[in-house]
Amino acid sequence: MIDTSNPHADTVFDAEQHRVLLTSSPLQRIGAYALAALAQVKTPDELTVERFESAVGKMTDHLKTTVTVNEATDPGGFWLSAGYGLWPNVDGLTHPSRKRKPQPARAALLEDWRTCPPVELWPGAPCAYCERAACGWFGKMDIPLGASIEHRNTTAPGHLGTPLCFACVACLWAFPYGCQLAGGRVAAVHSWDEQFLGRTVRLAVDRTLAAMVAGYSKAKLGPYARERMVLEQVRDYPARRITADVELMVLSNSNREQFLHTKLMSQPIARWLRTTRSSKPEHRAGYRTLLTAQASKDIDGEAWLAKRLFTDPAVVFYRSVNFVLERFSSRKAPPDEVAVLAPLLYSYCREVLNMETKDFDRVLALADRLASLLSKDNRPGPVQGFLHATRTTNDLYRWLKSEAISWQLTTPSNGAPTVLVSALDYRLLFEDEGWWSHRRLLVFAVLEALANRGWVPEGFEDQVIDMSEEARDAASEGEDQP
Ligand SMILES: [Zn+2]
Repeated sequence: MIDTSNPHADTVFDAEQHRVLLTSSPLQRIGAYALAALAQVKTPDELTVERFESAVGKMTDHLKTTVTVNEATDPGGFWLSAGYGLWPNVDGLTHPSRKRKPQPARAALLEDWRTCPPVELWPGAPCAYCERAACGWFGKMDIPLGASIEHRNTTAPGHLGTPLCFACVACLWAFPYGCQLAGGRVAAVHSWDEQFLGRTVRLAVDRTLAAMVAGYSKAKLGPYARERMVLEQVRDYPARRITADVELMVLSNSNREQFLHTKLMSQPIARWLRTTRSSKPEHRAGYRTLLTAQASKDIDGEAWLAKRLFTDPAVVFYRSVNFVLERFSSRKAPPDEVAVLAPLLYSYCREVLNMETKDFDRVLALADRLASLLSKDNRPGPVQGFLHATRTTNDLYRWLKSEAISWQLTTPSNGAPTVLVSALDYRLLFEDEGWWSHRRLLVFAVLEALANRGWVPEGFEDQVIDMSEEARDAASEGEDQP
């Protein structure tokens, strides 16, 4: 309980209520960093009472630019437009009665909304986020998280709401500054990596301040634009490795539509993604080719890559292998893209798809043995046969059994393994949980090993049609993939 009989209570509690703490709530944390950015300090713990007050005052001033605005689309109406999706029913801003209120009354209502209630009105409850004394009960108007009552922003009839201290509610007011406000949605990026979060929010605040001048954009965003925004932020992150997952939250708190969607980019993916930004020319070329491999007719490769890294990372690898097979069909020989893609795809297999090094090495060694066998024959048929066989379990099993016999009959005693496919190799390709990824890796690695051997089929021009068909079949991901 708050001791309101203490004459120093106001001072003591004011100081405490102006001290921003980082809590376990992603919204509050994004808001805390946004508040720090508005106060032009790097981290929330650098917020002095004066800087905290100046940042809160700045936000109130921004809201007051809406006072003279008739329509949300008019200049100065940015927070009126954005407010419908963030703070519905706020008197003087988004409440339907706004239009009937004179401008000074609107300003006074906004000022009231953003002022800490006097101590005697505090509820005597701990803040739901930081457990310090709450300064009031808050609900949908202040907690910008849509969805439902489960997310505790909607106050049920008979309930007072969520108790919050002034520092935490100020963070929630600052939260939208740290987001992308466009296309009728709020998109927030959160991570437990403090440095990454700090930088991401600072950039978002800069964008929001610029958007306040340019006006709120309701235009529909491009395909997977929000996922792509995260991809770019991760790739551009200069400081060091990212140490935690990166979460994308898309939400709306509007009266018309309330929802919250979250997606996670795992830390290994974020870490791998940063390696694609290497200054080495071969890495840059690899990334460009990877994007080409992901693209479809209507959606460009980076949008697809961003989407797949959130929802189905394995597809990034499968699409890349298919792309190489399609190129193989047009070139009639292992394409240049194999060598360009190999470093990125191999690191993807190990770091993102979690292939154990010993399994990865085993598949590559098998690919090398198969390529040495296949490259002995410069007719296109054997490679065709291999590509065809990789489509189904039975065909691949039969093909490997048959080649194993040739291997034993023809392998010279030059130190090469006497067995073409070991029991462990069979397990990786047919029984292991990651059998399909191992098979796609085998296809890619065989093409790479053939390219390294300079293998080109003799008379391939006569075989264009057949070879194209075989490669397309093999590129069709097979009939029995998971
Ligand atoms: Zn609090």
